[in-house]
Amino acid sequence: MSDLKLIDPYNRYLNYLRISITDRCNLKCIYCVPRDKIPRLAHDEILTYEEILRLVRVGVKLGISKIRVTGGEPLVRKGVYDFLSELSRIDGLADLSLTTNGVALKDNLKRIKSAGIKRINVSLDTLKREKFAQITGRDHFDQVWQGIERAREMGFYPIKINVVVLNGVNDDELIDMAQLSFDQPFHIRFIEYMPMGESQMGNGPLMLAPEIKKRICALGNLVPVRNSANDGPAQRYQFEGALGEIGFIPALSHHFCDRCNRLRLTARGQLRPCLLSDHHEDLRGPLRSSCSDDQLAEIFFKAVSHKPSDHNLALQNPTRVCGQMHSIGG
Ligand code: SAM
Repeated sequence: MSDLKLIDPYNRYLNYLRISITDRCNLKCIYCVPRDKIPRLAHDEILTYEEILRLVRVGVKLGISKIRVTGGEPLVRKGVYDFLSELSRIDGLADLSLTTNGVALKDNLKRIKSAGIKRINVSLDTLKREKFAQITGRDHFDQVWQGIERAREMGFYPIKINVVVLNGVNDDELIDMAQLSFDQPFHIRFIEYMPMGESQMGNGPLMLAPEIKKRICALGNLVPVRNSANDGPAQRYQFEGALGEIGFIPALSHHFCDRCNRLRLTARGQLRPCLLSDHHEDLRGPLRSSCSDDQLAEIFFKAVSHKPSDHNLALQNPTRVCGQMHSIGG
């Protein structure tokens, strides 16, 4: 295989691969899945772990050094802990992390830790039990919260708590969520809701990062934290004297595309160069028709050559993305 790395036409070096290992989820968040029937991939449509590991080995040779495992809900897929162990043994990966809704976290933290995962992101949009059930369709707030606490006790760091801000649903809790960053080393990350796929939230109403920031500034001065090379889109801050951090993911209000270093592999084996564009290259077909690693590498390069300079989910002209977040992985 050649020494070429994944550099797109706009000179961005893509070293970060997000891998969705399943389209299944044990929650039904109103902003993520359709109200009605949720389409499901058949078992054999989903990449096997062996197929994913092969693709990661190819990606690492092309410069991928950072991987996040996501879903659906990654912890619902059978065999996930062994898979994570295999992944963490691949030479050349500098960073391996996991995004979960936390429902299955508490009882599996030891297995996650021994699989080699040190950093986790947990999605939690409210601190109120009833509202959690209203947003997710399930009464699992307590177990998610216990999972977060246990992860902190076990030394996972950082624990990022992802909050999708939904105007009229959880915007009354912004201060309470931000407050969590004072006494605990949690990184609270406020994510702008992205109108994509079929969700019950449709096009909004939206609340954007500047408004979120203004509201939580009632708690104190937000001091910028310098981004490191791998931070990607997050705008990082810290309240003076706080143990944790605050982050904003301003997907709509502030395009961060010039810093985007990501590719996404979906559970069905599509390589997507941009979360907010439906363009993708199929890897599953070639994988299953005995193609060589060089041929798989060519497909990586092809996807990279289609990475748009900028996404076009602009506020004035929302172009709806058809792909569902639960099948792409966020
Ligand atoms: N099940 C895992 C979880 O809950 O973190 C991983 C998959 S989930 C699709 C990944 C992230 O995408 C979560 O933080 C979720 O809140 C976020 N997300 C889903 N739909 C979204 C949307 N329309 N806009 C912004 N974020 C969204």
